[in-house]
Amino acid sequence: MALIKLHDKQFGPFLSKETIAERIQTMGKQITLDYADKDPLFVIVLNGAFMFASDLLKEIDIISDLSFIKVSSYEGTETSGQVKNVLGLQDEIKGRHVVLIEDIVDTGITLEYLNNYMIEKGALSVEIATLLFKKDAYQKEYKLKYTGFEIPNKFVVGYGLDYDGLGRNINEILKLSETKNNMLNIVLFGPPGAGKGTQSEKLAQKYGLVHISTGDVFRGLDPQSDLAKLAKSYSDKGNLVPDDITIKILESEVQKHPDAKGVIYDGFPRTSAQAEALDSFLASKGTSVTFMLALEVEEEELRTRLKNRAIDSGRPDDADPEIIQNRIDVYNKQTAPVASHYKEQGKYKAIDGIGSIEEITERLFTAIDGVEA
Ligand code: 5GP
Repeated sequence: MALIKLHDKQFGPFLSKETIAERIQTMGKQITLDYADKDPLFVIVLNGAFMFASDLLKEIDIISDLSFIKVSSYEGTETSGQVKNVLGLQDEIKGRHVVLIEDIVDTGITLEYLNNYMIEKGALSVEIATLLFKKDAYQKEYKLKYTGFEIPNKFVVGYGLDYDGLGRNINEILKLSETKNNMLNIVLFGPPGAGKGTQSEKLAQKYGLVHISTGDVFRGLDPQSDLAKLAKSYSDKGNLVPDDITIKILESEVQKHPDAKGVIYDGFPRTSAQAEALDSFLASKGTSVTFMLALEVEEEELRTRLKNRAIDSGRPDDADPEIIQNRIDVYNKQTAPVASHYKEQGKYKAIDGIGSIEEITERLFTAIDGVEA
């Protein structure tokens, strides 16, 4: 299974539904044996334990009463260390053998509180059945009688457990993925002639990044190949190569560098659809676009630069004023909206693209270092 994104975080596979089911069967048998003649009261600690309780109780062969309570002690991925309240307990506890059904025991604060609460209410005995136990985070003496899995001190979701409201209905347990979130993935953006290629090289060198230019990839294809001919038929007129082709090419380029510290995307994404495709592609690899750096240059200056570049680049799309104008128009119409995509994510940084190459490079370095710090 690929990574799953919940809010701002990525989660990857941890305990499969088969592994969980097998363990719960064993736990159910043990509880059945231990409580067969004790008339237990199962107290289910909501919300997280709902899925575990449902599956566990099906494996317990004792007709018994159930009670549902709610306790809250967590916000986001950090413990607040505060147990607030017990809500919803309607059954008489006095004289009962209570089995608390919990999804996860972390510090043990919740559990200790509940144990004391049940004893105060007159329970004859209190034991716990928890699916997960974070042994290294546990701070209490109280022994856990039935534990499904001892797990490392990592944040998990799924199978009843949530991350800020999401993930409870996932049928397996996932853990927070920290794999590649420290990659530096830069989208270098700007109209044709803004200096993206030149600046990308400088950034790649300074930060040790892989530079991927979809334009260079297309131009580097075997000219006799169908793909090259198809791409050329669009770019020679100043039009964009269709999204599905560009996205495929881009993904295969990225896959060639599995250990990259980061990537500079030069000339990609050029449409909103490509921006969305890049987001989900990177999410599936446990990473994301760090930010977009947008080189801003006025049209008149662009036209002059492209005409000059045509003299040494030999690119047919640089030479003809009509094609140049079409490239600028296509940029304004199809590509400029990509900026909004990153603005909405708070990842957009405008960079003044007028000045010497060195001056612009310096501005880019400052923008990156400011964000990295
Ligand atoms: P404790 O009081 O033992 O520190 O925390 C117990 C409660 O914290 C659990 O019932 C659960 O709500 C929450 N919790 C602890 N660790 C995790 C975790 O890794 N993932 C999720 N989703 N909740 C957790």
